[in-house]
Amino acid sequence: MLKLQGIAVSPGVTIGEALVLDSEGFRIPRRFVARSAVDTELERLATAVAETSREIERNRDAIQAELGGQYAAIFAAHLAMLHDAKLQAELTSAVRDKNFWPEYAVSRTLRRYAKVFQNLDNHIAQRAHDIYDIEKSLLRNLLGQRRETLAAISQPVIILAHNLTPSETANLDRRFVQGFATELGGPGSHTAIVAEGLEIPAVVGLGPFLADVSGGEPVILDGNQGVVILQPDEETIARYRLEVETARTVAARLDGLRDLPAETTDGVRIQVTGNIEFPSEVEQCLSRGCDGIGLYRTEFLYLTSPREPTEEDHFAAYSEVVRSIKNKPVVIRTLDLGADKMRTEKTPEEERNPCLGLRSIRLSLRQLPMFRTQLRAILRASAIGDVRILFPLVSTIVELRQARMVLADVMEDLAEHGIAFNPKMPVGMMVETPAAVIMLDAFIREVDFVSIGTNDLIQYTLAVDRGNKEVADLYNACDPAVLRQLRRSLDVAREAGVPANVCGQMSGSVMYTQLLLGLGLRQMSVPASAIPEIKQVCRSVSVAECRGIAERALAMDSAREVKAFLRDQMRRLLSESVA
Ligand code: PEP
Ligand code: MG
Repeated sequence: MLKLQGIAVSPGVTIGEALVLDSEGFRIPRRFVARSAVDTELERLATAVAETSREIERNRDAIQAELGGQYAAIFAAHLAMLHDAKLQAELTSAVRDKNFWPEYAVSRTLRRYAKVFQNLDNHIAQRAHDIYDIEKSLLRNLLGQRRETLAAISQPVIILAHNLTPSETANLDRRFVQGFATELGGPGSHTAIVAEGLEIPAVVGLGPFLADVSGGEPVILDGNQGVVILQPDEETIARYRLEVETARTVAARLDGLRDLPAETTDGVRIQVTGNIEFPSEVEQCLSRGCDGIGLYRTEFLYLTSPREPTEEDHFAAYSEVVRSIKNKPVVIRTLDLGADKMRTEKTPEEERNPCLGLRSIRLSLRQLPMFRTQLRAILRASAIGDVRILFPLVSTIVELRQARMVLADVMEDLAEHGIAFNPKMPVGMMVETPAAVIMLDAFIREVDFVSIGTNDLIQYTLAVDRGNKEVADLYNACDPAVLRQLRRSLDVAREAGVPANVCGQMSGSVMYTQLLLGLGLRQMSVPASAIPEIKQVCRSVSVAECRGIAERALAMDSAREVKAFLRDQMRRLLSESVA
């Protein structure tokens, strides 16, 4: 039995069989192919070689056209290396005779070649870079086949992987994937968010452990505590089975809250809306008694589609959401691609700091045809229900004005063609950068509502990558710097009479509910699975008590102190509700 501690990102406990997907990046473990699978694995290798060859040819032709034959010769040399008979024979032999996994064969063989070049003390040493390039491309093409592996899952498994991208996670089949655990990943990554949306228990940031598993063995995944237990003994399995049963009973009890409002004991009605990534999640939100959809992350339409979505694709998705939610409001956020939300098949030019790079509204404003397509579809959907539009990651007022100008222009277009839309569709912005918080008094005059994205706000305030396990301990919603920004944002919005919502993961955790209510929050948008518990807490507290809690928390100067205090408050509340 081996117990591992990671970061809990999507709740739930599950017991099942491991499926290992350890092929990621360039950490290629030494794995072996079963003899019966050698031919299939060799075919996989041949496909990757052919795809790499096509990529190099495409690069060669493009460079030839642009810069001429002298530069294109670099790629011709890559092609010659890739197809070198000796190299190909070595790769085949590594798989056929040594039963190496193709990824391992590629990595080991090419790295050996690269080392030989590197050790030469002349200009040929530079060639080592070319070999690493070929290795990278071959591995990418081999690993690209991972989607098929994921798509082919047809029996219940717990996935153990080095990493899963948000788009891979979005494509997981919930019927079979009981849970997943990864070596990489941080508390606020979009992989974590999608897992929670899909209600797949998940633990990330476990560090290296895959060398100890080969697949098929029993695993316990505890998404509440961030624990993964490999090869558990009978006693541990029995204990966790009991926990699964207890969780079922609690969930059934909370089901009773479905039709009750989230109203505090002193009569303040809190709007609890759902966060969704896919139209199918509306049902999960409704079945928990949501007040609408407070955040629809539309970028997942791009992440789950093999091609760029058309206006009709957008419209089909949005109208499905609007129809299923009936007359409740739906906040549709425009494309928030970039940073960790990239399509795997697209290889954008690498950015050194993608979180600080061309993401979100910045990307939309650079790619106007794509942006306009989405805006047309959102506007058309506004004709059939209570649709509101939300711009993500706004950091300057010029961006907000530009986005609004494009929207106004698209409205004009639709009007000219007699296409129906709501000309008064409310327009909001996400507050998720310190710049937006500091300048909120200016922004607030130009929007109908704001939605505070604490996931990014924490990341940008504390300069901590939300997806990096190495700094996960610093990624903390309790940090006083975060609390003060929340207070300011909510104060500015209240004074301006503009509705404010918190839609980051923070509002979905019951530990923060009293604090947020005390800071003045009256709307929260949370993952569907969190709605019942949040409602329950709202119904058990008074705003007056919550104010006291917020004041005390704001007077503290360290995240540790705030966290201990909020935990304590939570415990007291739980013991009162049990008593
Ligand atoms: C946030 O940043 O808090 C947010 C809701 O947006 P996302 O998690 O999609 O970046
Ligand atoms: Mg965000």
